[in-house]
Amino acid sequence: MGKTYDVIIIGLGGMGSTTAYQLAKRGKRVLGIEQFAPAHDQGSSHGGSRIYRQAYFEDPAYVPLLLRAYELWEEIKRESGRELLTVTGGLMMGPPDSQTVAGSIKSAKQWNLPYETLSAAEVHKRFPVFTPSPNQVALYEKKAGFVRPELSVYTHLVEAEKHGADLRFFEKVRSWEPHSSGEGVTVVTESGTFEAGKLVITAGAWSSQILKDIGVSLEVERQVMMFFEPIGGVEPYRVGHFPIYIWEADDYTQLYGFPSFDLRGEGAKVAFFRKGGVPCTPETIDRNVYTEEIQTLRDYLEQGLPSLSGRFLEAKTCMYANTPDQHFVICRHPDYEQVNIAAGFSGHGFKFASVIGEIMADLAIDGSTKHPIDLFRPQRFVHH
Ligand SMILES: Cc1cc2nc3c(=O)[nH]c(=O)nc-3n(C[C@H](O)[C@H](O)[C@H](O)COP(=O)(O)OP(=O)(O)OC[C@H]3O[C@@H](n4cnc5c(N)ncnc54)[C@H](O)[C@@H]3O)c2cc1C
Repeated sequence: MGKTYDVIIIGLGGMGSTTAYQLAKRGKRVLGIEQFAPAHDQGSSHGGSRIYRQAYFEDPAYVPLLLRAYELWEEIKRESGRELLTVTGGLMMGPPDSQTVAGSIKSAKQWNLPYETLSAAEVHKRFPVFTPSPNQVALYEKKAGFVRPELSVYTHLVEAEKHGADLRFFEKVRSWEPHSSGEGVTVVTESGTFEAGKLVITAGAWSSQILKDIGVSLEVERQVMMFFEPIGGVEPYRVGHFPIYIWEADDYTQLYGFPSFDLRGEGAKVAFFRKGGVPCTPETIDRNVYTEEIQTLRDYLEQGLPSLSGRFLEAKTCMYANTPDQHFVICRHPDYEQVNIAAGFSGHGFKFASVIGEIMADLAIDGSTKHPIDLFRPQRFVHH
C-alpha cells in the first residue's frame, strides 16, 4: 500500500487537470491518475481550440459560471505565462428565432451582458467572408474567443505538480471502493493500490458506468472537426480580423468555427455542432474521416462562408459525452459522500474547465460549493 492522499482524481483530461491544479493549490495531497499521456488526443480535449462565449443559448443558468471561468482563465494565464484563452469576439448568427440567436439574446438580456445585434448586411460589412441569407441576424459579443484545450490540460498539470500533486500517466484505474464510513476510498490501478479521503471522477467519455450507477444514461458520440485553406488566402480569417462563430443555417443546422492561428495556420477550423454524430464508445470510435462528411460540410460552407471551402487540410475525430438533456452532471455521489463526479459535458464543456476545477475542489474539500450547480444534479433524471 502506497502513501495516503487527501484526494484521488480519476482522469486528467479537461476537467481532471483543472481539479488537480485547484486542489494542489489549496495545499491538498493530490494523486491524479490518467490512462494515457498528458494532453493526449484520445478523449474529448484535443484539436487545438474550443469556443468560449458568455451569452449562452443553452441556458442562462450557465452565465455566472462563464463569468467565473473567464476570471480563472485570466488567472492561470498570469500564473503560467501561457495564453490559454484568446479573446477574438464572437458572432452568433442565424434566423431570428433560432436557438443560436434567440437563446443568446435571452441570456445576454437576463444577465445584462454587453452585445450588439447585426443584420445580415452588417455582418457581411464587418466580416466580408460571411454571406448570410438576408433573413439572418447575429448577436456579436466582444468577450467571446477560444481556449486551447491541449495547452490548458498541459498547463494545469504542470502547475498542479508545482504545487505538489503526484500525477501518474499511462496507468488505468481498474476499480475503486468507498470505505463504508463515508470517509475514505481505495483505488486499484494496473500497477498499484492507493488510498485517499476523497475521490473525484472526471473520466469523460469513459463515464458511462458511473453515470448509469447514479441514474444517468450517457451517449458517447463521434464528432469531426475539419481544417480548410480559404480560397483567396487566409488573411481575412486570422485572429484580429475574424471572430469565433456559431452559425445556424436556414434549416437550423448549427456550424461553428474559429479564426486561423498558429495551429494549421494556413487554414481555419470548422465543424458541425451535433449534426452527424455517430454513437460509439471510446473503444469503437471510427477515427477515419470520409469524403462524404467533408462534402456535407462544404455544402453548408457554400451558403454562408463560401471562401472557407478551399483545400481540405486535415480532420480530427473527438467524442461528445451526451446526457439526455445535454446539461452536465456535477455532484456528490448520492450513496457515497466521499465520491464526487463531473461528467456528461455534452459537447460544450471545455470553456468551463477552469471553473469546474474550482467546483470539484470545493465539493471534495467542503462537500458543497457556492457556485450554482443545481442544473447539473443527476436527480433531474429520476422520474417518480
Ligand atoms: C469535436 C468537439 C468539439 C468541442 N467543442 C467545444 C467548444 O467549442 N467549446 C466548449 O466549451 N466545449 C467543446 N467541446 C466539449 C469539451 O471539449 C468537452 O466537454 C471536454 O473536453 C470534456 O472534458 P472531460 O475532462 O470530461 O473529458 P476528457 O478531457 O476526455 O478527460 C477524461 C479523461 O479521463 C481519462 N480516463 C477515463 N477513464 C480512466 C481510467 N479508468 N483510468 C485512468 N484515466 C481514465 C481519459 O483518458 C481522459 O484523459 C467539444 C468537444 C468535442 C469532442
